[in-house]
Amino acid sequence: MQNLLKLLLDFCFEMEFYLKIAVSCTMLQQVFYLLLNNLQLNLISQVLFYWLIGSISFYAIGFFIERFIKTKDNLTKKLSARVNKVKKQSFPAFTLKGMITGEIKSLIAALIILYLAPEVHRGNSLLLNLGWFLMRIVAADFCFYISHRILHTKSFLKIHLKHHEFQDSSSFVAGHKSFLEYIIVTITDILPIFIFGYDITQLCAWTLIGNIYNLEGHSSLSILFIPSDFHDLHHTSFQGNYGIQSFWDRVFKTLNPITKKTGIMFPVNSIESKLK
Ligand SMILES: [Zn+2]
Ligand SMILES: [Zn+2]
Repeated sequence: MQNLLKLLLDFCFEMEFYLKIAVSCTMLQQVFYLLLNNLQLNLISQVLFYWLIGSISFYAIGFFIERFIKTKDNLTKKLSARVNKVKKQSFPAFTLKGMITGEIKSLIAALIILYLAPEVHRGNSLLLNLGWFLMRIVAADFCFYISHRILHTKSFLKIHLKHHEFQDSSSFVAGHKSFLEYIIVTITDILPIFIFGYDITQLCAWTLIGNIYNLEGHSSLSILFIPSDFHDLHHTSFQGNYGIQSFWDRVFKTLNPITKKTGIMFPVNSIESKLK
């Protein structure tokens, strides 16, 4: 009985993450629909808009976490997800050259993606969008799990080592990867839209929420979506925890035991801790 309850709570824990992503994407899609619905954007303006949303949100969210939240000791302590102590490391400084090359890379990626994928208009039905985003996050997590696990095999590890230069992680480590890894991760993330087509309002919502959970996942804090030290443990122990969150690692038995954060944003964990 105890085991069954634990299994059920673990399942709810995984679904809570997926649902929160799907609901947030759906809400944000409504905003982009309101903004873009009456505008007839051609390919180039779509590329520029999509690229700007991705870039601005990446820097804005990263700086908010690193320069605002982390300068407040109380807040950092309250939100901290890190359990294992690691040696402090200094993170790569932002250079103009690095930022410009990064932006050129993402602009070219945006152009290739929108040029190759067919455009579809899925409208603003809440249910349809929720279903689409739910399918996308579960699929994206699966694709990321597979590609990340392959990157940890002997033959491909070299491509992935740059991302693992940091044991202590900061939000911006999320973008610290080799060019080849950038291509692999981008392809696995946008694979469904090559098959099902892209709707620009959905794509922008997906990118913005993706930046939030990716930066949060590397910040060693639990703020909105990341309910444990899951990716922290991947950086400190270098094996296990290959997914975006723990669902697929649980399925394929590669999960490092995680410490779940409780709080208003993580209701399943709070229920679990009360039942103990
Ligand atoms: Zn890795
Ligand atoms: Zn990482």
